[in-house]
Amino acid sequence: MAPANEPLPGTSDIWEPDVREWVCLETAARDIFARYGYGEVRTPIFERTDVFVRSLGDETDVVQKEMYTFEDRGGRSLTLRPEGTAGTMRAIACRGLADGEQLRVFYMGPMFRGERPAAGRRRQFHQVGVEAVGGSDPCEDAETIAMLVHYLDAIGVQGGRVRLNTRGVPEDRAAVSAALRQHFEPQAAAMCPDCQRRLSANVWRILDCKNPACQALVDGAPKMVDLVGAESRAFFAAVCRGLDQLHVPYELAPRLVRGLDYYVHTVFEVVHSGLGAQDALAGGGRYRISLPGNKKALDGVGFAAGMERLLMARESLGLTAQARAAADVFVVALGDGAVVAALELAQQLRRSNAGLRVLAGLGARSMKAQMRAANRAGARWALIIGDNELTAGTVVCKNMAASQQESVRREAVLDWLTAASRA
Ligand code: AMP
Repeated sequence: MAPANEPLPGTSDIWEPDVREWVCLETAARDIFARYGYGEVRTPIFERTDVFVRSLGDETDVVQKEMYTFEDRGGRSLTLRPEGTAGTMRAIACRGLADGEQLRVFYMGPMFRGERPAAGRRRQFHQVGVEAVGGSDPCEDAETIAMLVHYLDAIGVQGGRVRLNTRGVPEDRAAVSAALRQHFEPQAAAMCPDCQRRLSANVWRILDCKNPACQALVDGAPKMVDLVGAESRAFFAAVCRGLDQLHVPYELAPRLVRGLDYYVHTVFEVVHSGLGAQDALAGGGRYRISLPGNKKALDGVGFAAGMERLLMARESLGLTAQARAAADVFVVALGDGAVVAALELAQQLRRSNAGLRVLAGLGARSMKAQMRAANRAGARWALIIGDNELTAGTVVCKNMAASQQESVRREAVLDWLTAASRA
């Protein structure tokens, strides 16, 4: 049994300096997505269960096996969000979208899936994602993929490969399902029990199966683009043309369907060789979602990238945050009377415009203990206040690396630090 103070399997505590890596992903997302007209939305971490079941599809792995669902005291079934699109769509439907209005939003934050934890597969993981809602132009799909590639470039994740396919429109589904069934049915005996059940329940799901025996059969399955109707083929061709025009490299992935039922037309993912078995950095596509209270289904296009995986990809490329000192300045207080003076000086320095990070040795410990604390914090300067300094209105300013010190009038300490930081 894991010790009680360890985080649960598949969850993590995130500490400095890793937190700065996260902030870097978040800052770049805000910067890049804003350039494409996206604004941030923050939706609740839990929703009514049917928000997810309705939009993800009840035959999906996420809904069937992975959701953290619980009852609240009123007996309502609630679920921790397993992904960001369904909640965002619920929020947009609640806010309202005027006829013809288009909306672009991005989100980032924790998602929850009860999967078996492995490298790159967590139970609480984080996604950064975007949704462009209300449009239906294939160029928007190309633009969305181009933005994802732009974002990956901005965070230094080189080497991602875009894989692209179409799922067609709902009107194509019967014909596609029939063709897939015709391909798989004669080989049912060779398939895993889940896929044997999927043959009648939802034959598309077989294309996502990771079982090697099923994968071998999937490789011989007909290509989606050959099964869908003329309208879907034309849409897909337009997306490809858009990507060519924007010089975004991509590969055709003729049997990629992605796990969720709400997708129509374009589906894509970005894979990266630095990730190992779970090699998907991001996935997305065009979708059509109908929500309670909304007469018309909402059309949109979006993607979500796994932030843990973005960090793994960065790490595989040698990009990691360096440990950083906790403080620039440590104010040492010797004697009870000096503690308040030390705190006052620390506060004055923090509130100055010098941007100094300052710790004060509160708790009246020995000089040796406080200098050790200053070293541990990585401080470049120690400012020492004892009884003599209190009386004289001075501070002993010490350069930690050079072990040089001098007595400075209290009001001149900031100038001394400014000059020292330029030296
Ligand atoms: P999905 O919502 O399943 O399309 O996933 C989008 C992206 O989220 C994937 O490409 C992964 O990068 C990431 N992701 C999905 N599930 C997990 C998980 N359990 N742990 C870590 N990252 C995940």
